[in-house]
Amino acid sequence: MQAKTYYNSDADLSNITDKIIAIIGYGSQGHAHALNLKESGVNVIVGLRKDSSSKADAEKAGLTVYTTSEAAKKADIVMILIPDQHQKKVYESEIKSHLEEGNSLAFAHGFNIHFDQIVPPENVDVFMVAPKGPGHLVRRVYKEGSGVPSLFAIYQDFTGKTKETALAYARAIGGTRAGVIETTFKEETETDLFGEQAVLCGGASELIKAGFDTLVEAGYQPEIAYFECLHELKLIVDLLYEGGIEGMYYSVSDTAEYGGLTRGTDVINDQTRERFRTMLKEVQDGTFAREWIEENKTGLKKLNKLRSELGDHKIEKVGKDLRSMMDWIPDNIKQETEPAE
Ligand code: NAD
Ligand code: MG
Repeated sequence: MQAKTYYNSDADLSNITDKIIAIIGYGSQGHAHALNLKESGVNVIVGLRKDSSSKADAEKAGLTVYTTSEAAKKADIVMILIPDQHQKKVYESEIKSHLEEGNSLAFAHGFNIHFDQIVPPENVDVFMVAPKGPGHLVRRVYKEGSGVPSLFAIYQDFTGKTKETALAYARAIGGTRAGVIETTFKEETETDLFGEQAVLCGGASELIKAGFDTLVEAGYQPEIAYFECLHELKLIVDLLYEGGIEGMYYSVSDTAEYGGLTRGTDVINDQTRERFRTMLKEVQDGTFAREWIEENKTGLKKLNKLRSELGDHKIEKVGKDLRSMMDWIPDNIKQETEPAE
């Protein structure tokens, strides 16, 4: 592999076993980090809001829960795992004043540090350990004795030992069992934003909608268009995930392979690629970040309008009816229109 990758043998747990680690937030990543650290023999505590609904869960799992500011005060390493848009406020009101010289401030995503929303004091270490997978996978795979490939990055190295600390942390959550790749806050943040806009969330959903609309406008039944353009994407994504693009093409029919290889470039053409480059520039120069920070400050008006427009799209109405026929999808997921908080 081209990228420098670190494994268990490169990471020494004793770099963190004499420390107290506070995990702030007990959501997707938070619960996985906290429980994996605990089972790796690390002294971990959890910091939550006073009224947090996760407090009971964390305590039931055998973790000790404090308020965020109490946890930050007790800890040597503070890992912030609350939603990115709330981190600045929580950092300023409950964490900042408790950071002592030589402490570590840690993240699983680089946005707030890279775009200067959180400006840490100079006398602390700042690092990132970011599993490339959702928390439930980080937890499940750890219990099975393996790990999820992860990224790590160092933003500020006050003690001269930040790399050792970050790798020990990555080992404790299972990351170095699979392999941990070194990146920077800049690279992780910019590629993450670009990927979710161009390909994963923005690109994929507009591709689905455009395919669906084309079939429906031409008089085909919306239910059939839904299966073809949205439902079956899962099969293709699973094939891509397991075998790459060649693996996917190997598994589909020759007809699908020929049609895809000759027509796909009509969809993603030079013009689209040029637009991708512009989108990337807007990520790199902070245009997107400024817009998103402003949107949060002004009450998410644009986001709420876009959410409601999407909810009105025919594909969403048809999808709800069709998914109600799919018993294997949990009810709370298949009817979801609002993102879970
Ligand atoms: P989440 O939404 O699943 O969980 C957030 C937790 O923080 C919840 O327990 C919530 O109740 C709590 N919380 C919310 N507001 C709070 C506040 N004001 N004070 C204290 N606690 C509060 O979040 P997540 O998806 O685990 O993301 C956490 C971090 O991990 C983010 O930086 C994210 O970018 C990063 N990350 C997420 C994933 C993923 O797949 N979910 C993967 C890699 C990195
Ligand atoms: Mg991401």
